[in-house]
Amino acid sequence: MPKPPKSPLQQLDAAHHLHPFTDSRALHQKGARVIERGEGVYLWDADGRRILDAMAGLWCVNLGYGREELVLAAEQQLRRLPYYNLFFQTTHLRATELAASLATLLPGDMEHLFFTGSGSECNDTVIRMVRHYWAGQGQPGRKTIISRHNAYHGSTLAGASLGGMKPMHAQGGLPLPDIVHIDQPYHFGEGQGLDPQQFGLERARQLEHKILELGPDRVAAFIGEPIQGAGGVIIPPDSYWPEIQRICRQYEVLLVVDEVICGFGRTGHWFASEHYGLEPDLLCMAKGITSGYIPLGAVAVGARLARGLIAGGEFFHGFTYSGHPVACAVALANIEVMQKERLVARVHDDIGPYLQQEWARLGNHPLVGETRGLGLLAALELVADKSDNRRFAEDAGAGIICREHCFDLGLVMRAVGDTMIVSPPLVIGRAEVDELITKARQALDLTYQTLMN
Ligand code: PMP
Repeated sequence: MPKPPKSPLQQLDAAHHLHPFTDSRALHQKGARVIERGEGVYLWDADGRRILDAMAGLWCVNLGYGREELVLAAEQQLRRLPYYNLFFQTTHLRATELAASLATLLPGDMEHLFFTGSGSECNDTVIRMVRHYWAGQGQPGRKTIISRHNAYHGSTLAGASLGGMKPMHAQGGLPLPDIVHIDQPYHFGEGQGLDPQQFGLERARQLEHKILELGPDRVAAFIGEPIQGAGGVIIPPDSYWPEIQRICRQYEVLLVVDEVICGFGRTGHWFASEHYGLEPDLLCMAKGITSGYIPLGAVAVGARLARGLIAGGEFFHGFTYSGHPVACAVALANIEVMQKERLVARVHDDIGPYLQQEWARLGNHPLVGETRGLGLLAALELVADKSDNRRFAEDAGAGIICREHCFDLGLVMRAVGDTMIVSPPLVIGRAEVDELITKARQALDLTYQTLMN
């Protein structure tokens, strides 16, 4: 079929715009998909096609598109105080209110917040904070941060270094020094044939081995996403996190959880740390904090660390947009709507279990080797042979083929290699879940036809 000509906007875009995480040459050949507006869980593209956004943008539009409450909060704040900073002994109403509000929602003894503009900035902040903390404790040698292969912690130098994405490390000589990685708790991908709980313990104990190899007096912190998102919605066996927490406590290594995706109701809790019984020292959040309407991130700080940081003199760190008043106002409105509509409980008790029940039915498809999920996160694994879960060859591009069929059917579903993932807005209704599942199955059928012919 001849390709449709590129629209003037697509031509302009190709001429001037470098996109994030994009092969520009390939994009220029076909022209960018143009999204024009959104309402609820739906997007409309420039051709007027309606698309069900089962990824909530980039895992962030938790309240769905077009929420007047958030627009109004931004508008009012823009009129009252569009900007002021939090440097040099100053605050403003919205930052203080938001910090206090978050402190009531956070697990354990997390009562202090440091604001940033994004998830990546949270993770840069984490590195600087934990090293500053340990120096203040008279242990400047505790510098190394242990993370995991296939983790995602952002795109800045520090974020990409903490992350465990090999293609990202390959560009630009990463990771930075004193950041090391252990294996991930990805049972389907790396532990088949092993008992999942045993596998979870083994993967957690790699942390202990790494701490002992480096020497505990050199290790500052361990960082992990409760559920790895961009890595493919990797849900660790239940044995994993308690063992990680035990090891961190035993060796006094700080526990940092990156809840940039998992936070704000995605797993049916305000934070996934509650689900896993975690009491982290630091917790990163972004995305769902404003439902993605405006950029904001925050690092929550537990009591032990807060004491050290407060006593530790000036912390030479901060961003012009740390705690931007408009972003904080939107976050406060976002939390208010979540509470008014009881969205976290809804994900936990109603729409989360419904999505999981329906998603699990896709497991009987000949292409599907595993389905998994929690709350409103779900993944399925495409396999060439269901009897032994053999994968397709990498160059078969099964995941990309499936993703493109989804788009053609009016569904945004993301592919991570041959893992298909969804993370819909928390406001998704049952009929919309049904539509998601129907389209996903149609896409699987079409993928099967494409790959097997
Ligand atoms: N941490 C996690 C777990 C993420 O998923 C992401 C973004 N997908 C980030 C950090 C980076 O956030 P940002 O893109 O806002 O910098």
